Amino acid sequence: MEAILRDTFVEVNLDHIIFNMKSIKKMVGEKVAIAAVVKANGYGHGAVGIAKALIENGANYLAVASLNEALELRKNFKDYKIFIMGATKDSHLEYVVKNNITQTIFSYKQAKILNELGIKYNKKPVVHIKYDTGFNRLGFKDCDYSIEEIGKICMIDNIYVEGIFSHLALAGKEEDNKQYNKFINAIEKFQDMGINFKYKHIEDSISAVDYKEYRLNMIRPGAIIYGIKGFHYGSLDLKQALTFKSKISYIKKISKGEGVSYDYLWKAKEDSIIGTVPFGYADGYPRNLRGKGYVTVCGKKAPIIGVICMDQCMIDLTGIPDVCEGDEVIIYGDGTNNTLDIDTASKLSGTNKNEILSRISIRPPRIYTKNNKIVNVINYIG
Ligand SMILES: *Cc1c(COP(=O)(O)O)cnc(C)c1O
Repeated sequence: MEAILRDTFVEVNLDHIIFNMKSIKKMVGEKVAIAAVVKANGYGHGAVGIAKALIENGANYLAVASLNEALELRKNFKDYKIFIMGATKDSHLEYVVKNNITQTIFSYKQAKILNELGIKYNKKPVVHIKYDTGFNRLGFKDCDYSIEEIGKICMIDNIYVEGIFSHLALAGKEEDNKQYNKFINAIEKFQDMGINFKYKHIEDSISAVDYKEYRLNMIRPGAIIYGIKGFHYGSLDLKQALTFKSKISYIKKISKGEGVSYDYLWKAKEDSIIGTVPFGYADGYPRNLRGKGYVTVCGKKAPIIGVICMDQCMIDLTGIPDVCEGDEVIIYGDGTNNTLDIDTASKLSGTNKNEILSRISIRPPRIYTKNNKIVNVINYIG
């Protein structure tokens, strides 16, 4: 196993990832396939580090946003099914074909390019059609012309149109229902044309929990795999998998009136004990948590004081007895033992939970545990 090359690291509890996968699998049953979304480095958890646990516990696909994310997975896992949900430009489709990656398409032109590449490399490229039911991001616009175009794509010999999918805007039950109906109407038109797709999917995490009736035969959960709850109506047993940790690198006493960090925006109201911790905004911690964020030391909240630097920040340890340099600091926990949970962190910094997770950069190593033992370490740098 690799050494852990930085005191600030992300600890991922693989038992919790597996628990969540089993929970999702139980919720949807055997007939619904799971495309486990591991884009953005597995929402900060490390896509490569969690892939095996996902595949071995019911994920049919690993879904990513972009080609480079797909290639990272392919380098590490020769046989896993990998699906790019975003667009790949024409000149990069060659990578997709050579590496047996399933590609989202929404033009006849790209279908033809993939067909030709398939012939060139003696492969049959697999695609899912993106159908836009209102989100207005990617996909064939919902209209008769698109139905014709998709029909033409399905006639191309040397590609396999394995699926069709759409994405909900989650703008409320009524709007979601409108989108779902547009999707179903399109699918029915294809059925009338004799076209059946192996996979049909429209649901992400929130909708998969909230709308049992829209699951079709595949879902694309991201957040819930990591134990993050954003759903409103349904319920699902989940366990947060990520803990963001560091260690105190330096402790000092300062006198009443002294300032700390850039511009002295924090000044000691009394003689204080200040700890320095080696994490900052370059690790993905929101700089705007100045004056709001806290970490947990010895089970107690220690406020972050002064401006958060790129690589370090200072915490107020006054009133926490017996703290030593090298002691553990919990940056994000699951909310127990006075830890800052992902939901609270996101609210304090004015964003959402997925942003808090996915912005954790590649500087902190990822450490994977099973049965409370470290089973894998990934250093991206070093
Ligand atoms: C990110 C993404 C998902 C997963 O989203 P969650 O809200 O994390 O479940 C599903 N589908 C598409 C197309 C996505 O881009």
